[in-house]
Amino acid sequence: MQDIRWNAFWLGLTLIIICLITWASSSATNALLVFSVVITAYLIGHLYWLHQLNLWLKKPVLNHIPDGSGAWEDVFGALYQEYRRHSRNQTQLSSALGRFRHAASALPDGVVVLNAANEIEWCNPPAEVKLGLDLKKDENQPINYLVRHGDFVSYLQEQDYSEPIKLKSWRNLDVTLEIQLIPYGSKQKLLICRDVTQLEKIETMRRDFIANVSHELRTPLTVVGGFVETLLDMEGAVPESTRSYFNMMQEQTMRMRLLIDDLLTLSHIESNVQAPENIEIDMPSMLNMIINDAKALSQGKHQIIANIDPHLNLLGAAGELQSAMSNLISNAIRYTPTGGEIKVNWELSNNQAVFSVSDNGIGIEQKHIDRLTERFYRVDRSRSRETGGTGLGLSIVKHILTRHQAKLEINSELGVGSTFSEVFPKARIIQKQVALF
Ligand code: ADP
Repeated sequence: MQDIRWNAFWLGLTLIIICLITWASSSATNALLVFSVVITAYLIGHLYWLHQLNLWLKKPVLNHIPDGSGAWEDVFGALYQEYRRHSRNQTQLSSALGRFRHAASALPDGVVVLNAANEIEWCNPPAEVKLGLDLKKDENQPINYLVRHGDFVSYLQEQDYSEPIKLKSWRNLDVTLEIQLIPYGSKQKLLICRDVTQLEKIETMRRDFIANVSHELRTPLTVVGGFVETLLDMEGAVPESTRSYFNMMQEQTMRMRLLIDDLLTLSHIESNVQAPENIEIDMPSMLNMIINDAKALSQGKHQIIANIDPHLNLLGAAGELQSAMSNLISNAIRYTPTGGEIKVNWELSNNQAVFSVSDNGIGIEQKHIDRLTERFYRVDRSRSRETGGTGLGLSIVKHILTRHQAKLEINSELGVGSTFSEVFPKARIIQKQVALF
């Protein structure tokens, strides 16, 4: 740019000097004539190179950039450099894209790149096989026109892709697919699809095994428990010296029965792939019943305060939700020392229905909180046992909530107390009409 300015300056200066000399040695008319001729030639030169630039821009080929002359030499030189840099970048980008596609094609999982309108931009061969796509034909087609499975279509529309979905392949019902959408860039999505048939089989075997073992153990345990109870009730059947052992046997068989019942409940909920029934539940009356049971369990050792919205109902499976809610209250009673306070709330908050149980009991250290819903995870094993816990309660709660698209939130501080909240989505809420008179 500096050169161009200097060139123009020197050219202008030279022209003025020539014109002045011509004026001095000849006449003003001749000086004007010289000026006009030089300026016209100068303009024609510029117009020519402008035309060349225009021609090149219509068909920009690196090797055919005009050389230019004068100031235009610099312009075309800079253009050549810039264009070379751009082509180099583009080559690098397309080779990186090529490498990415090559690597993605080698993945055993199906990968589909979707644009903002959910149209297929690219997919790898495993995605073609698993989802029945054909990239050559289906490029730029909306994915929901090609993958028409109802669950997939609602997952795509839901916009919440934090969890993958599992569905039976529509091409082969023996195959189970796990599909996850990952948003990236400007509203684009990456669809990952994997065959989880084998994992599902192992999971089903594990669930069936637990359910069968629990079921098989139930009968002998009922028999043993029954006999122990009968012997304890029979006058003189148990000598006083061994009565304490029989009491322990009765206690332990009772614990095992609770454990088996919880295991059966958990495996029943886990293996139930059907959506829970969607019946309107009269929440205030169900919660009053749960609170009465809780008062009986506490035996007056705790102050139980309830704050229940009388107009707030839920759609769901009554039995399951009753279990999920009474579980939290019974935990609060079991982990709050005598004299403690337990608050039960049922209210609408931010368009969600929230059931929460707060206590000022023993509380939980932060590091345990994420693991509480794992099966058999207990902060303090002996305390859980002493209070008749099985270590499966919160696991059952979490499964029931997941089936109802709800979530469990836990806030707790060691030595201060805990709040366990069950948060239900708007779609499950039914608000009873308030009578005006
Ligand atoms: P458990 O039958 O052992 O109570 P849960 O699954 O119901 O099993 O709970 C898991 C663990 O979470 C318990 O063992 C206990 O350590 C902790 N926990 C649950 N609720 C509370 C509470 N309200 N206060 C303190 N700890 C709790």
